[in-house]
Amino acid sequence: YAKRNGRDGYRIYTDEMTTEVNDIIETSRGLHHAVSQDELMVFFQPKVNLATGNILGAEALVRWQHPRLGLLPPSAFLEVAEKSDLVVDIDKWVFSKVAKLVTEWKRAGIDTSNIFISVNFSARMFYMTDLAEQLQTILDKTECKPSQLILEITERDMMRDFETCVRTIEMLHAKGYKIAIDDFGTGYSSLSVLKNLSADYIKLDRSFIKDVNTSPSDYEITKAILQLAKVLDLAVVAEGAETRSHVDTLRQLGCASAQGYYFAKPLPVDGWLDYLSKNKDHIPRSALYHAYTQ
Ligand code: C2E
Ligand code: MG
Ligand code: MG
Ligand code: MG
Repeated sequence: YAKRNGRDGYRIYTDEMTTEVNDIIETSRGLHHAVSQDELMVFFQPKVNLATGNILGAEALVRWQHPRLGLLPPSAFLEVAEKSDLVVDIDKWVFSKVAKLVTEWKRAGIDTSNIFISVNFSARMFYMTDLAEQLQTILDKTECKPSQLILEITERDMMRDFETCVRTIEMLHAKGYKIAIDDFGTGYSSLSVLKNLSADYIKLDRSFIKDVNTSPSDYEITKAILQLAKVLDLAVVAEGAETRSHVDTLRQLGCASAQGYYFAKPLPVDGWLDYLSKNKDHIPRSALYHAYTQ
């Protein structure tokens, strides 16, 4: 098998490693092709206010419709993409696709003006000093406004270069975007960092929700993060709400909103529009930010 490091710290090459390296090259080459040939797709997963049942928006999640391998989840290709600026191309593709779709929906009379769409950005996006300008250039070709978008960065990515990320967040805020810290609770930030985050939302990581009803420590961590978020005026979206009892517990703990299979899996565009039309009564009439807090 492939041994990562020899006893002297040298990499020992094995047959399997050659395959591994070839795979990486093959994936990144294929990915280049995917971005340029529109083989990427965006799915949408609804986010729901737990107190009112209102749809607060959706998270855009990338998929790769691979010609040979079928529909690939991000876990199959993002790691390779993140090794280079390829991930920047992917993130910008998704951002641009979302802006175009929001415009299409608006023109088709589908009222999405009061719901927020979140887009995931990798660390490399947040390290670009001209990110806000680049995004504006994309939005200028559409009728989508920054105020309709939430940009997500994982806590882990944020901690890799906290100062730079905070600076980027300030620039994005000035343009009207909202910011969410994704996978919160897994990124090793000290809690004191939270007060300097200048983010709007934290997304409570799925790993705490999974066993929130059976693991006393996951329950207590969830409770503590929710209490802290309230004090710091951060809205919370819980990830991975799969069951009725997850939702009940989160609601009882004062969590404002959640997303997860209990409400809906990530849906292709048509499915998302279906979901919206079936849940018309739950589309908020105004886009008040406080819709996110209980
Ligand atoms: P994430 O941003 O934390 O997104 C939530 C992930 O949890 C999604 O996985 C979603 O399908 C999954 N999920 C949602 N609800 C449930 C549930 O109830 N149970 C379970 N088991 N899973 C649930 P997905 O779509 O595979 O995406 C994985 C990760 O890939 C995302 O995690 C995000 O970090 C990254 N990602 C997705 N799209 C993009 C993108 O366009 N750009 C970048 N840079 N990263 C992306
Ligand atoms: Mg996310
Ligand atoms: Mg997440
Ligand atoms: Mg995640």
